[in-house]
Amino acid sequence: MMAEHLKNYIDGKWMDAATGQAFPSINPADKSEVLGLFPRSDHRDVDRAVEAARRHYPRWRKVPAPRRAEILFRAAELLVQRKEELAVLMTKEMGKILKESRGDVQEGIDMAYFIAGEGRRLLGETTPSELPDRFTMSVRVPAGVVAAITPWNFPLAIPTWKIIPALVAGNTVVFKPAEDTPLLAAKLVEILEEAGLPPGVLNLVHGLGEEAGAPLVRHPDVAVVSFTGSSEVGREIGIAAAAEHKRVSLEMGGKNAIVVMDDADLDLAVDGAIWGAFGTSGQRCTAASRLVVQKKVLKDFSERLVKRAEALRLGNGLLPETEMGPVINERHLKKIHRYTKLGLKEGAKLLAGGDVHRRGDCAKGFFYLPTVFADVSSKMRIAQEEIFGPTVTIIPVADLDEAIDVVNSTRYGLSSAIYTRDVGKAFKAMREIEAGITYVNTSTIGAEVHLPFGGLRHSGNGRREGGSAAIDNFTEWKTLYIDFSGRLQRAQIDEGTPL
Ligand code: NAD
Repeated sequence: MMAEHLKNYIDGKWMDAATGQAFPSINPADKSEVLGLFPRSDHRDVDRAVEAARRHYPRWRKVPAPRRAEILFRAAELLVQRKEELAVLMTKEMGKILKESRGDVQEGIDMAYFIAGEGRRLLGETTPSELPDRFTMSVRVPAGVVAAITPWNFPLAIPTWKIIPALVAGNTVVFKPAEDTPLLAAKLVEILEEAGLPPGVLNLVHGLGEEAGAPLVRHPDVAVVSFTGSSEVGREIGIAAAAEHKRVSLEMGGKNAIVVMDDADLDLAVDGAIWGAFGTSGQRCTAASRLVVQKKVLKDFSERLVKRAEALRLGNGLLPETEMGPVINERHLKKIHRYTKLGLKEGAKLLAGGDVHRRGDCAKGFFYLPTVFADVSSKMRIAQEEIFGPTVTIIPVADLDEAIDVVNSTRYGLSSAIYTRDVGKAFKAMREIEAGITYVNTSTIGAEVHLPFGGLRHSGNGRREGGSAAIDNFTEWKTLYIDFSGRLQRAQIDEGTPL
């Protein structure tokens, strides 16, 4: 069967890229399946999309926010109706198992409902003036054209975290999705179009990072860049955006740790470690890639973990028995394997996995065995660098203080977790761990949309998505002083009304 040619969506029209070239989206569980061909856009398409977004901005920003939100509520309803269809496509395009794909779509639904509610809030502040007959307040105003640049690991959820808050606040958007998951991006845009979004308010430009993403970041008419992806690309984007004084929010990588104390419920801790390390084949920014284990439970914990890791059933995520799907592409598969070789060279002990999985139907795709390294010291590169695959390291520690030092020893600071039955230890960990998120007695993954999400250091640049922070990235504060005294009143100089 011929693969379908999909298009960019600019100014309300579906169109090819200026280059006339296309790139394929491939099923990572079966590389012979091409899901579609997508426009390989360059700066000319970016210019067109930004121009459309710029032109439609003055009208969109004046649409009352509750009206804007109605469209987003309708999009949420459409996502609900199409949840299963989208989840199946996501498993085909990205590889995660169907249950997790449903969760990804659900996160998009949650975000759409949550943020559409903001249409009737977008709260500002009023406060008394220091001068008589003067009213003061601050309101949120939209920022302008927003560039949304997203990774492939949450093909639907992450775009909604950016696009929906940007739209409810009155911005227009140019969306550059990951080149590994363009089909899901196209589906989301189709849904927003069907929900009633006017032309030009949301524009979609497919393409590669260097060719389509970089010109979008640099474009002078883009006011806000909202990026989720690797720390390396995030740094480049941060530097490029700073040159133009653009507002930029960066959500980047992680090297997240689970601490397991001697007093932990070990069954619970092993469940959490398996889910954190091997869920989505370890391709989550919040994946647990370090297990920091106190010595008394080390042997028992490691044995149970290895047994469970080796029993995981790998395969096509559409099959109900599959517990772990493929990794995203061949380049990534090779990168994961390079880290296995590095771990061995560094002197870590390989307890499970450590190779590409080629058995049966898995030979058709990019599968890597669940991999467990023990005797890892926190200085090793496998304990410091983001592998973004099903590879987990076990780092032994003597006590909580050492555990916290280990957790805080990487350049990242996104998610973290501690398993303990001691409330004092839990509170100490919550206070001392340097990360945007700390879980107690549950794994490093499981963000809810109405709470702030983001990390420190190389995991983020001080911004947050979700929660009450969701709107902050996409609005400017405007402060208003209304003087009805009928005379010149000078703040800090005039004394105001005598007492
Ligand atoms: P990536 O950085 O390679 O790509 C992300 C996006 O940036 C893609 O759309 C890509 O085309 C684009 N891009 C690449 N180079 C660019 C450039 N020079 N200018 C502009 N855009 C460019 O990341 P990825 O491989 O798609 O995703 C995996 C990474 O994302 C991991 O590091 C993971 O931890 C991170 N991630 C972070 C979060 C978070 O919220 N903190 C969530 C999910 C994934």
